Amino acid sequence: MTAANQRTEQTSQRFAVIGGGVTGCVLAERIQQRYPEASVTLLEGSGTLGGLSVRSEPDPIGWDRFYHVVTPQDVLLLDWLKRLGVEDRLRWKSAHTGFYADGRLHRFDTPLDFLRFPPLSLFEKGRLAASILYASRITDGKPLWNITASDWLRQIAGPDVYRKFWEPLLRAKLGSAHNEVAATFIWSTIRRLYATRQAEGRREAFGYISGGYAPVFSVAEQYLSKLGVIVRKHAAVTSISDVGDGSTRIRTRDGGEVIVDRVIYTGPSRFLPELCQSMPIPASLLKQAQSIRYLGVLCMVVKLTRPFCPYYVLNLTDPGLPFTGVIGLSTLVDPSETGGHHLVYLPRYLPDDDPDFDKPDEAFLEPFFSALERIGHSRGFRRDEVILHKLFRSRFVSPIAVRGYDQQRLPIPLVPRRLYLLNTGRILGGTLNNSQMIEEVERGLDEILA
Ligand SMILES: Cc1cc2nc3c(=O)[nH]c(=O)nc-3n(C[C@H](O)[C@H](O)[C@H](O)COP(=O)(O)OP(=O)(O)OC[C@H]3O[C@@H](n4cnc5c(N)ncnc54)[C@H](O)[C@@H]3O)c2cc1C
Repeated sequence: MTAANQRTEQTSQRFAVIGGGVTGCVLAERIQQRYPEASVTLLEGSGTLGGLSVRSEPDPIGWDRFYHVVTPQDVLLLDWLKRLGVEDRLRWKSAHTGFYADGRLHRFDTPLDFLRFPPLSLFEKGRLAASILYASRITDGKPLWNITASDWLRQIAGPDVYRKFWEPLLRAKLGSAHNEVAATFIWSTIRRLYATRQAEGRREAFGYISGGYAPVFSVAEQYLSKLGVIVRKHAAVTSISDVGDGSTRIRTRDGGEVIVDRVIYTGPSRFLPELCQSMPIPASLLKQAQSIRYLGVLCMVVKLTRPFCPYYVLNLTDPGLPFTGVIGLSTLVDPSETGGHHLVYLPRYLPDDDPDFDKPDEAFLEPFFSALERIGHSRGFRRDEVILHKLFRSRFVSPIAVRGYDQQRLPIPLVPRRLYLLNTGRILGGTLNNSQMIEEVERGLDEILA
Protein backbone atom coordinates (compact mmCIF):
# COMPACT_ATOMS: atom_id res chain seq x y z
CA MET A 1 0.00 0.00 0.00
CA THR A 2 1.37 3.47 -0.86
CA ALA A 3 1.81 6.00 1.94
CA ALA A 4 -0.93 8.16 0.37
CA ASN A 5 -3.40 5.23 0.28
CA GLN A 6 -2.60 4.30 3.82
CA ARG A 7 -3.21 7.84 4.97
CA THR A 8 -6.58 8.03 3.23
CA GLU A 9 -7.59 4.70 4.74
CA GLN A 10 -6.74 5.76 8.29
CA THR A 11 -8.31 9.16 7.89
CA SER A 12 -11.67 7.45 7.55
CA GLN A 13 -11.01 4.79 10.15
CA ARG A 14 -12.82 4.20 13.40
CA PHE A 15 -10.64 3.85 16.48
CA ALA A 16 -11.56 2.85 20.03
CA VAL A 17 -9.28 3.40 22.99
CA ILE A 18 -10.23 1.36 26.05
CA GLY A 19 -9.33 2.95 29.40
CA GLY A 20 -9.39 6.65 30.29
CA GLY A 21 -6.27 6.90 32.47
CA VAL A 22 -3.41 9.08 31.33
CA THR A 23 -2.39 6.43 28.76
CA GLY A 24 -5.82 6.27 27.12
CA CYS A 25 -6.32 10.05 27.21
CA VAL A 26 -3.00 10.78 25.50
CA LEU A 27 -3.52 7.96 22.98
CA ALA A 28 -6.96 9.29 22.01
CA GLU A 29 -5.54 12.81 21.73
CA ARG A 30 -2.62 11.79 19.53
CA ILE A 31 -4.69 9.61 17.19
CA GLN A 32 -7.31 12.31 16.74
CA GLN A 33 -4.65 14.96 16.15
CA ARG A 34 -2.94 12.84 13.55
CA TYR A 35 -6.19 11.90 11.79
CA PRO A 36 -8.74 14.66 12.42
CA GLU A 37 -11.26 12.97 10.10
CA ALA A 38 -11.11 9.63 11.92
CA SER A 39 -13.68 8.68 14.53
CA VAL A 40 -11.99 8.14 17.91
CA THR A 41 -13.99 6.81 20.87
CA LEU A 42 -12.54 6.69 24.38
CA LEU A 43 -14.28 4.13 26.60
CA GLU A 44 -13.80 4.42 30.36
CA GLY A 45 -15.35 1.95 32.78
CA SER A 46 -15.74 4.30 35.73
CA GLY A 47 -17.60 7.59 36.05
CA THR A 48 -14.50 9.72 35.58
CA LEU A 49 -11.34 9.89 33.51
CA GLY A 50 -7.96 9.58 35.25
CA GLY A 51 -7.70 5.93 36.35
CA LEU A 52 -5.41 5.42 39.31
CA SER A 53 -4.35 9.06 39.28
CA VAL A 54 -7.62 10.54 40.52
CA ARG A 55 -9.73 10.45 43.65
CA SER A 56 -12.30 7.79 44.40
CA GLU A 57 -16.01 8.15 43.89
CA PRO A 58 -17.42 9.08 46.34
CA ASP A 59 -14.43 10.95 47.69
CA PRO A 60 -14.22 10.89 51.49
CA ILE A 61 -10.65 12.23 51.63
CA GLY A 62 -10.70 15.37 49.46
CA TRP A 63 -7.61 14.32 47.50
CA ASP A 64 -6.32 11.67 45.05
CA ARG A 65 -6.76 8.13 46.35
CA PHE A 66 -3.05 7.46 45.79
CA TYR A 67 -0.18 9.91 46.26
CA HIS A 68 1.39 11.64 43.27
CA VAL A 69 4.43 13.83 42.78
CA VAL A 70 5.64 15.54 39.65
CA THR A 71 9.39 15.91 39.13
CA PRO A 72 11.25 18.30 36.81
CA GLN A 73 12.28 15.19 34.81
CA ASP A 74 8.63 14.46 33.93
CA VAL A 75 9.07 16.43 30.74
CA LEU A 76 6.31 14.74 28.74
CA LEU A 77 3.82 15.07 31.57
CA LEU A 78 4.69 18.76 31.89
CA ASP A 79 4.13 19.17 28.13
CA TRP A 80 0.74 17.48 28.41
CA LEU A 81 -0.29 19.75 31.30
CA LYS A 82 0.73 22.68 29.10
CA ARG A 83 -1.35 21.40 26.17
CA LEU A 84 -4.32 21.17 28.52
CA GLY A 85 -3.62 24.70 29.77
CA VAL A 86 -3.34 23.66 33.43
CA GLU A 87 0.39 24.16 34.01
CA ASP A 88 -0.40 27.08 36.33
CA ARG A 89 -1.75 24.49 38.78
CA LEU A 90 1.74 23.13 39.41
CA ARG A 91 3.34 23.93 42.76
CA TRP A 92 7.02 23.20 43.40
CA LYS A 93 8.67 22.50 46.75
CA SER A 94 11.66 20.68 48.12
CA ALA A 95 10.75 17.48 49.89
CA HIS A 96 12.59 15.56 52.56
CA THR A 97 13.34 11.89 52.82
CA GLY A 98 13.80 9.96 56.04
CA PHE A 99 14.37 6.49 57.38
CA TYR A 100 12.73 4.82 60.35
CA ALA A 101 15.48 2.55 61.60
CA ASP A 102 16.26 1.06 65.00
CA GLY A 103 13.10 2.63 66.38
CA ARG A 104 14.08 6.19 65.42
CA LEU A 105 13.51 8.67 62.61
CA HIS A 106 16.59 9.72 60.60
CA ARG A 107 16.82 12.42 57.99
CA PHE A 108 18.34 11.20 54.71
CA ASP A 109 18.66 14.20 52.38
CA THR A 110 22.29 15.23 52.20
CA PRO A 111 25.69 13.49 52.12
CA LEU A 112 26.09 14.55 55.76
CA ASP A 113 22.82 12.77 56.67
CA PHE A 114 24.22 9.73 54.89
CA LEU A 115 27.46 9.85 56.93
CA ARG A 116 25.44 10.16 60.13
CA PHE A 117 23.05 7.32 59.24
CA PRO A 118 23.39 5.04 62.31
CA PRO A 119 22.30 1.62 61.01
CA LEU A 120 25.39 1.35 58.78
CA SER A 121 29.01 1.26 59.97
CA LEU A 122 31.56 3.51 58.25
CA PHE A 123 32.82 0.53 56.25
CA GLU A 124 29.26 -0.33 55.16
CA LYS A 125 28.64 3.29 54.15
CA GLY A 126 31.75 3.08 51.97
CA ARG A 127 30.46 -0.12 50.36
CA LEU A 128 27.04 1.42 49.79
CA ALA A 129 28.51 4.56 48.18
CA ALA A 130 30.82 2.44 45.99
CA SER A 131 27.93 0.21 44.88
CA ILE A 132 25.81 3.22 43.92
CA LEU A 133 28.70 4.70 41.95
CA TYR A 134 29.33 1.35 40.26
CA ALA A 135 25.66 0.94 39.31
CA SER A 136 25.41 4.50 38.00
CA ARG A 137 28.31 3.85 35.62
CA ILE A 138 26.81 0.76 33.97
CA THR A 139 25.48 1.89 30.60
CA ASP A 140 24.02 -1.38 29.24
CA GLY A 141 21.38 -2.74 31.61
CA LYS A 142 20.42 -5.69 29.38
CA PRO A 143 22.48 -8.35 31.22
CA LEU A 144 20.79 -7.24 34.47
CA TRP A 145 17.52 -8.79 33.28
CA ASN A 146 19.12 -12.19 33.99
CA ILE A 147 19.76 -11.69 37.70
CA THR A 148 17.42 -10.72 40.54
CA ALA A 149 17.90 -7.34 42.21
CA SER A 150 18.47 -9.05 45.57
CA ASP A 151 21.29 -11.30 44.24
CA TRP A 152 22.91 -8.44 42.35
CA LEU A 153 22.78 -6.01 45.27
CA ARG A 154 24.23 -8.65 47.62
CA GLN A 155 27.08 -9.08 45.15
CA ILE A 156 27.91 -5.40 44.67
CA ALA A 157 27.20 -4.09 48.19
CA GLY A 158 27.66 -7.14 50.43
CA PRO A 159 25.04 -9.05 52.48
CA ASP A 160 24.99 -6.64 55.45
CA VAL A 161 24.40 -3.51 53.37
CA TYR A 162 21.80 -5.45 51.44
CA ARG A 163 19.96 -6.48 54.60
CA LYS A 164 20.15 -3.11 56.34
CA PHE A 165 19.62 -0.78 53.40
CA TRP A 166 18.62 -2.26 50.04
CA GLU A 167 16.22 -4.93 51.17
CA PRO A 168 13.97 -2.49 53.08
CA LEU A 169 13.98 -0.17 50.07
CA LEU A 170 13.08 -2.99 47.69
CA ARG A 171 10.33 -4.07 50.10
CA ALA A 172 9.01 -0.50 50.17
CA LYS A 173 8.48 -0.56 46.40
CA LEU A 174 7.61 -4.22 45.84
CA GLY A 175 6.46 -5.76 49.11
CA SER A 176 6.78 -9.53 49.17
CA ALA A 177 7.65 -9.50 45.43
CA HIS A 178 11.00 -7.86 46.24
CA ASN A 179 12.88 -11.16 45.78
CA GLU A 180 11.54 -11.71 42.27
CA VAL A 181 12.29 -8.44 40.54
CA ALA A 182 15.20 -8.24 38.08
CA ALA A 183 18.27 -6.12 38.83
CA THR A 184 17.32 -3.79 35.95
CA PHE A 185 14.61 -2.31 38.18
CA ILE A 186 17.01 -1.05 40.82
CA TRP A 187 19.76 -0.21 38.31
CA SER A 188 17.50 2.14 36.34
CA THR A 189 16.21 3.72 39.56
CA ILE A 190 19.77 4.37 40.78
CA ARG A 191 20.80 5.79 37.41
CA ARG A 192 17.84 8.15 37.29
CA LEU A 193 18.33 9.42 40.85
CA TYR A 194 22.08 9.74 40.40
CA ALA A 195 21.69 11.63 37.12
CA THR A 196 19.15 13.98 38.71
CA ARG A 197 21.42 14.84 41.62
CA GLN A 198 24.42 15.30 39.33
CA ALA A 199 22.49 17.56 36.99
CA GLU A 200 20.80 19.66 39.61
CA GLY A 201 23.46 19.68 42.30
CA ARG A 202 20.70 20.05 44.87
CA ARG A 203 17.87 18.15 46.45
CA GLU A 204 15.26 17.36 43.81
CA ALA A 205 12.36 19.75 43.57
CA PHE A 206 9.05 17.94 43.89
CA GLY A 207 5.84 19.22 42.44
CA TYR A 208 2.16 18.59 42.91
CA ILE A 209 -0.93 19.75 41.14
CA SER A 210 -3.11 22.13 43.07
CA GLY A 211 -6.44 20.39 43.61
CA GLY A 212 -4.89 17.00 42.78
CA TYR A 213 -5.35 15.17 39.48
CA ALA A 214 -9.17 15.34 39.37
CA PRO A 215 -9.32 18.86 37.87
CA VAL A 216 -6.64 17.93 35.31
CA PHE A 217 -8.70 15.03 34.01
CA SER A 218 -11.90 17.02 33.93
CA VAL A 219 -10.09 19.59 31.73
CA ALA A 220 -8.67 16.65 29.69
CA GLU A 221 -12.21 15.46 29.03
CA GLN A 222 -13.28 18.85 27.67
CA TYR A 223 -10.06 19.14 25.66
CA LEU A 224 -10.58 15.71 24.07
CA SER A 225 -14.21 16.45 23.26
CA LYS A 226 -13.18 19.71 21.59
CA LEU A 227 -10.67 17.79 19.48
CA GLY A 228 -13.48 15.53 18.33
CA VAL A 229 -12.90 12.48 20.53
CA ILE A 230 -16.12 10.79 21.67
CA VAL A 231 -15.67 10.28 25.41
CA ARG A 232 -17.88 7.61 26.99
CA LYS A 233 -17.74 7.11 30.74
CA HIS A 234 -19.48 4.32 32.70
CA ALA A 235 -18.58 2.20 29.67
CA ALA A 236 -16.80 -0.84 31.11
CA VAL A 237 -15.83 -3.02 28.16
CA THR A 238 -16.99 -6.63 28.60
CA SER A 239 -16.04 -8.06 25.19
CA ILE A 240 -13.98 -7.30 22.11
CA SER A 241 -15.06 -9.57 19.27
CA ASP A 242 -14.53 -10.26 15.61
CA VAL A 243 -17.46 -9.12 13.46
CA GLY A 244 -16.22 -11.11 10.48
CA ASP A 245 -15.79 -8.32 7.92
CA GLY A 246 -12.47 -7.12 9.35
CA SER A 247 -14.09 -4.83 11.89
CA THR A 248 -14.35 -5.32 15.64
CA ARG A 249 -17.35 -5.12 17.97
CA ILE A 250 -16.89 -3.75 21.49
CA ARG A 251 -19.63 -4.38 24.04
CA THR A 252 -19.92 -2.47 27.29
CA ARG A 253 -21.56 -3.39 30.59
CA ASP A 254 -24.17 -0.64 30.18
CA GLY A 255 -25.49 -2.45 27.10
CA GLY A 256 -23.65 -0.21 24.62
CA GLU A 257 -21.89 -1.35 21.48
CA VAL A 258 -19.30 0.26 19.20
CA ILE A 259 -18.03 -1.15 15.89
CA VAL A 260 -14.53 0.00 14.99
CA ASP A 261 -11.56 -0.80 12.78
CA ARG A 262 -8.78 -0.51 15.36
CA VAL A 263 -8.86 -1.01 19.13
CA ILE A 264 -6.19 -0.03 21.63
CA TYR A 265 -6.59 -1.58 25.08
CA THR A 266 -4.85 0.14 28.03
CA GLY A 267 -6.17 -1.92 30.97
CA PRO A 268 -4.43 -4.82 32.74
CA SER A 269 -3.18 -7.55 30.35
CA ARG A 270 -4.60 -10.24 32.65
CA PHE A 271 -8.13 -9.53 31.40
CA LEU A 272 -7.30 -9.91 27.71
CA PRO A 273 -8.18 -13.63 27.40
CA GLU A 274 -11.58 -13.00 29.03
CA LEU A 275 -12.31 -9.89 26.94
CA CYS A 276 -11.11 -11.17 23.57
CA GLN A 277 -12.63 -14.63 23.29
CA SER A 278 -13.39 -14.44 19.59
CA MET A 279 -10.45 -12.35 18.41
CA PRO A 280 -7.77 -14.10 16.35
CA ILE A 281 -5.01 -13.48 18.93
CA PRO A 282 -2.28 -16.15 18.88
CA ALA A 283 -2.88 -18.60 21.75
CA SER A 284 0.72 -18.13 22.93
CA LEU A 285 0.08 -14.41 23.51
CA LEU A 286 -3.10 -15.09 25.46
CA LYS A 287 -1.27 -17.62 27.61
CA GLN A 288 1.48 -15.08 28.21
CA ALA A 289 -1.10 -12.41 29.16
CA GLN A 290 -2.69 -14.75 31.68
CA SER A 291 0.60 -15.69 33.32
CA ILE A 292 1.94 -12.16 33.91
CA ARG A 293 2.34 -11.48 37.61
CA TYR A 294 1.10 -8.07 38.69
CA LEU A 295 2.09 -5.81 41.51
CA GLY A 296 -0.85 -4.28 43.34
CA VAL A 297 -1.24 -1.93 46.26
CA LEU A 298 -3.29 -1.52 49.42
CA CYS A 299 -3.04 2.04 50.63
CA MET A 300 -4.58 3.56 53.73
CA VAL A 301 -5.05 7.32 53.72
CA VAL A 302 -5.18 8.87 57.17
CA LYS A 303 -6.34 12.43 57.81
CA LEU A 304 -4.79 13.97 60.93
CA THR A 305 -5.20 17.16 62.93
CA ARG A 306 -1.41 17.74 63.03
CA PRO A 307 1.64 16.72 60.97
CA PHE A 308 2.91 13.18 61.42
CA CYS A 309 6.55 13.60 60.39
CA PRO A 310 8.62 16.07 58.35
CA TYR A 311 9.31 13.65 55.47
CA TYR A 312 7.54 13.21 52.17
CA VAL A 313 8.92 9.68 51.98
CA LEU A 314 9.74 7.80 55.16
CA ASN A 315 11.45 4.51 54.36
CA LEU A 316 11.01 1.79 56.94
CA THR A 317 13.88 -0.55 57.71
CA ASP A 318 12.55 -2.02 60.96
CA PRO A 319 10.88 -5.39 60.40
CA GLY A 320 7.30 -6.29 61.29
CA LEU A 321 5.54 -3.15 60.03
CA PRO A 322 2.29 -3.75 58.12
CA PHE A 323 2.90 -1.09 55.45
CA THR A 324 5.96 -0.54 53.28
CA GLY A 325 6.47 3.23 53.68
CA VAL A 326 4.92 6.41 55.05
CA ILE A 327 4.13 9.17 52.57
CA GLY A 328 3.67 12.51 54.29
CA LEU A 329 1.61 14.10 51.53
CA SER A 330 1.04 17.31 53.48
CA THR A 331 4.78 18.01 53.64
CA LEU A 332 4.34 18.66 49.91
CA VAL A 333 0.70 19.60 49.39
CA ASP A 334 -0.27 22.75 51.27
CA PRO A 335 -2.64 21.72 54.10
CA SER A 336 -4.94 24.60 53.07
CA GLU A 337 -5.82 22.34 50.09
CA THR A 338 -7.03 19.61 52.44
CA GLY A 339 -9.12 21.63 54.86
CA GLY A 340 -6.18 22.51 57.11
CA HIS A 341 -5.66 18.83 57.87
CA HIS A 342 -2.65 16.59 57.23
CA LEU A 343 -2.74 13.58 54.94
CA VAL A 344 -0.53 10.56 55.42
CA TYR A 345 -0.57 7.68 52.91
CA LEU A 346 0.42 4.21 54.11
CA PRO A 347 1.05 2.00 51.08
CA ARG A 348 1.60 -1.70 51.12
CA TYR A 349 2.72 -3.14 47.78
CA LEU A 350 1.99 -6.80 47.17
CA PRO A 351 1.67 -9.31 44.33
CA ASP A 352 -1.81 -9.73 42.85
CA ASP A 353 -2.24 -13.21 44.33
CA ASP A 354 -1.54 -12.12 47.91
CA PRO A 355 -4.41 -13.29 50.17
CA ASP A 356 -4.40 -9.88 51.91
CA PHE A 357 -6.33 -8.52 48.92
CA ASP A 358 -9.30 -10.61 50.04
CA LYS A 359 -9.33 -9.35 53.62
CA PRO A 360 -11.92 -6.77 54.69
CA ASP A 361 -10.79 -3.18 55.37
CA GLU A 362 -11.29 -3.63 59.13
CA ALA A 363 -8.57 -6.31 59.21
CA PHE A 364 -5.94 -3.63 58.54
CA LEU A 365 -7.08 -1.03 61.08
CA GLU A 366 -5.44 -2.32 64.25
CA PRO A 367 -2.08 -3.31 62.68
CA PHE A 368 -1.80 0.00 60.78
CA PHE A 369 -2.71 2.17 63.77
CA SER A 370 -0.39 0.26 66.14
CA ALA A 371 2.43 0.78 63.63
CA LEU A 372 1.64 4.52 63.43
CA GLU A 373 1.89 4.64 67.24
CA ARG A 374 5.24 2.84 67.10
CA ILE A 375 6.72 5.10 64.40
CA GLY A 376 5.16 8.29 65.78
CA HIS A 377 6.08 7.48 69.37
CA SER A 378 8.72 10.26 69.66
CA ARG A 379 6.27 12.97 68.59
CA GLY A 380 3.51 11.57 70.76
CA PHE A 381 1.13 10.34 68.07
CA ARG A 382 -2.34 9.61 69.45
CA ARG A 383 -5.24 7.87 67.74
CA ASP A 384 -7.60 10.72 68.57
CA GLU A 385 -5.66 12.90 66.08
CA VAL A 386 -7.15 10.78 63.30
CA ILE A 387 -10.14 12.52 61.75
CA LEU A 388 -10.76 9.85 59.16
CA HIS A 389 -9.13 6.97 57.38
CA LYS A 390 -9.89 5.01 54.25
CA LEU A 391 -8.30 2.00 52.60
CA PHE A 392 -7.92 1.98 48.81
CA ARG A 393 -6.83 -1.05 46.80
CA SER A 394 -5.77 -1.85 43.30
CA ARG A 395 -4.78 -5.44 42.52
CA PHE A 396 -3.38 -4.89 39.01
CA VAL A 397 -1.19 -1.80 38.93
CA SER A 398 1.73 -2.95 36.76
CA PRO A 399 3.50 -6.20 35.88
CA ILE A 400 6.34 -7.24 38.17
CA ALA A 401 9.57 -6.84 36.20
CA VAL A 402 10.81 -10.35 36.99
CA ARG A 403 13.96 -11.91 35.54
CA GLY A 404 13.59 -12.21 31.78
CA TYR A 405 10.57 -9.85 31.64
CA ASP A 406 12.20 -7.98 28.75
CA GLN A 407 11.66 -11.17 26.67
CA GLN A 408 8.17 -11.91 28.03
CA ARG A 409 6.70 -8.45 27.51
CA LEU A 410 3.66 -8.59 25.25
CA PRO A 411 3.95 -6.85 21.88
CA ILE A 412 1.87 -3.76 21.05
CA PRO A 413 0.06 -5.36 18.07
CA LEU A 414 -1.96 -8.36 19.26
CA VAL A 415 -3.81 -8.65 15.95
CA PRO A 416 -1.96 -6.51 13.41
CA ARG A 417 -3.97 -3.53 12.10
CA ARG A 418 -6.86 -4.37 14.45
CA LEU A 419 -6.08 -4.88 18.13
CA TYR A 420 -3.28 -3.27 20.14
CA LEU A 421 -2.08 -3.29 23.73
CA LEU A 422 -0.48 -0.29 25.35
CA ASN A 423 -0.45 -0.43 29.12
CA THR A 424 1.81 -0.24 32.18
CA GLY A 425 3.43 -3.50 31.02
CA ARG A 426 5.40 -1.49 28.42
CA ILE A 427 7.72 -0.10 31.08
CA LEU A 428 11.05 -1.91 31.11
CA GLY A 429 12.81 -1.20 34.38
CA GLY A 430 12.10 1.90 36.40
CA THR A 431 9.02 2.97 38.26
CA LEU A 432 5.54 3.54 36.98
CA ASN A 433 4.61 7.18 36.53
CA ASN A 434 2.41 9.29 34.32
CA SER A 435 5.24 10.84 32.33
CA GLN A 436 6.69 7.41 31.59
CA MET A 437 3.30 6.26 30.30
CA ILE A 438 3.07 9.29 28.00
CA GLU A 439 6.52 8.37 26.71
CA GLU A 440 5.30 4.83 26.01
CA VAL A 441 2.36 6.29 24.06
CA GLU A 442 4.58 8.56 21.96
CA ARG A 443 6.93 5.63 21.31
CA GLY A 444 4.15 3.15 20.44
CA LEU A 445 1.98 5.44 18.31
CA ASP A 446 3.66 4.73 14.95
CA GLU A 447 3.25 1.01 15.51
CA ILE A 448 -0.46 1.46 16.25
CA LEU A 449 -1.04 3.65 13.20
CA ALA A 450 1.18 1.68 10.78
C1 LIG B 1 0.20 4.01 44.81
C2 LIG B 1 0.47 4.72 43.50
C3 LIG B 1 1.30 5.83 43.50
C4 LIG B 1 1.59 6.48 42.28
N1 LIG B 1 2.40 7.58 42.31
C5 LIG B 1 2.66 8.25 41.15
C6 LIG B 1 3.45 9.43 41.18
O1 LIG B 1 3.95 9.86 42.21
N2 LIG B 1 3.65 10.08 39.99
C7 LIG B 1 3.13 9.62 38.80
O2 LIG B 1 3.33 10.27 37.76
N3 LIG B 1 2.38 8.50 38.77
C8 LIG B 1 2.12 7.79 39.91
N4 LIG B 1 1.35 6.67 39.86
C9 LIG B 1 0.92 6.10 38.55
C10 LIG B 1 -0.35 6.71 37.94
O3 LIG B 1 -1.34 6.93 38.91
C11 LIG B 1 -0.97 5.77 36.89
O4 LIG B 1 -1.24 4.54 37.55
C12 LIG B 1 -0.10 5.39 35.76
O5 LIG B 1 0.42 6.49 35.11
C13 LIG B 1 -0.79 4.44 34.77
O6 LIG B 1 -1.80 5.09 34.04
P1 LIG B 1 -2.67 4.25 33.00
O7 LIG B 1 -3.57 5.17 32.30
O8 LIG B 1 -1.78 3.39 32.16
O9 LIG B 1 -3.48 3.23 33.91
P2 LIG B 1 -4.66 3.51 34.93
O10 LIG B 1 -4.44 4.76 35.67
O11 LIG B 1 -4.81 2.24 35.70
O12 LIG B 1 -5.92 3.71 33.98
C14 LIG B 1 -6.51 2.63 33.30
C15 LIG B 1 -7.96 2.98 33.06
O13 LIG B 1 -8.55 1.96 32.26
C16 LIG B 1 -9.85 1.73 32.74
N5 LIG B 1 -10.22 0.36 32.33
C17 LIG B 1 -9.58 -0.80 32.62
N6 LIG B 1 -10.23 -1.84 32.07
C18 LIG B 1 -11.28 -1.31 31.41
C19 LIG B 1 -12.36 -1.89 30.66
N7 LIG B 1 -12.48 -3.22 30.47
N8 LIG B 1 -13.28 -1.05 30.12
C20 LIG B 1 -13.19 0.29 30.28
N9 LIG B 1 -12.22 0.87 31.01
C21 LIG B 1 -11.29 0.08 31.56
C22 LIG B 1 -9.75 1.90 34.25
O14 LIG B 1 -11.00 2.17 34.83
C23 LIG B 1 -8.78 3.08 34.34
O15 LIG B 1 -9.46 4.30 34.36
C24 LIG B 1 1.03 6.00 41.06
C25 LIG B 1 0.18 4.89 41.08
C26 LIG B 1 -0.09 4.25 42.28
C27 LIG B 1 -1.01 3.06 42.27
